[in-house]
Amino acid sequence: MKRDDLLGFSFGGNKCRIGMAFLEDMEKQGGNFMVSYGSSGSNLNRTMAALCKSKNIPCLIMVAEEEGEEACTFNRQIAKSAGAEQVVCKKTNVADAVGQVLEELRGRGYKPYYLYGNEQGRGNEAAAREAYIRAYREIAGWEKDRGVEFTHIFHASGTGMTQGGLVAGKRQAGGREEIIGISVARDAQRGTDAVRRYAGDGPEEIRFEADYRCGGYGLYDSFVEEIIEQMMNSHGIALDPTYTGKAYAGMERWLKRYGTGRERVLFIHTGGMPLYFDYLNRKRAEYAKGKGTQAI
Ligand SMILES: *Cc1c(COP(=O)(O)O)cnc(C)c1O
Repeated sequence: MKRDDLLGFSFGGNKCRIGMAFLEDMEKQGGNFMVSYGSSGSNLNRTMAALCKSKNIPCLIMVAEEEGEEACTFNRQIAKSAGAEQVVCKKTNVADAVGQVLEELRGRGYKPYYLYGNEQGRGNEAAAREAYIRAYREIAGWEKDRGVEFTHIFHASGTGMTQGGLVAGKRQAGGREEIIGISVARDAQRGTDAVRRYAGDGPEEIRFEADYRCGGYGLYDSFVEEIIEQMMNSHGIALDPTYTGKAYAGMERWLKRYGTGRERVLFIHTGGMPLYFDYLNRKRAEYAKGKGTQAI
């Protein structure tokens, strides 16, 4: 397992690498106000808020609230305590909401930087890509030092920034392993298109697996829960049900279906520790309601 959850800022994770890449890009472009976007449980929003606070850069997070999704999460709370401004919007209306926010910030005299690019969320693919090109190089270096070659790399795939970077890194290095993104939300078409965009032009096939989504973003089944419990009990490693736990469970399901038993597999732990505690909180509430089999 590549432990990107152990990167040294705000619980680590892929958003640590990606967030730093966006900050570098904002500096290059001469921006002075960071605008981020994500769900209420977004690791990206939390990490951007924390990174910006530590560098005294003003930050606003757009929070897409969806019916049925938890509105009060640890990530949101951490972002708030880092002093980020918050604007709530609907997932169906993001472009308009982003446009309004950017206009308002310009009115206040700032040069805002929306990390996804334009209002439609396009244009900053190259900046995001760079983060996991670097991570791919670390993996390739590790393999070379140890004389090991992975046959497969698995990880949780959402927006495609992580997978796109890995695919671009593999292309540059002439790597041969399969990079398999386990979708946490998107269907195969939408997910594959997004990864392709972040990966940049290349001849390679994109492996975005959408069969292990358990019904959608934030949803999970008892197997995902089992994996989370096992990983904590056997290795002391926290996984969460939205990203890493779902992806690890998806990887096991994939290997059972397609594997020969001879694969040499790397799983990238993409972080998201606060979501593990949201999960525990939810379990606690279930116990308290008497739904669980055991009281804590
Ligand atoms: C955002 C996130 C992902 C998905 O990464 P993308 O680059 O959006 O595909 C996976 N795991 C965790 C913990 C995340 O926060």
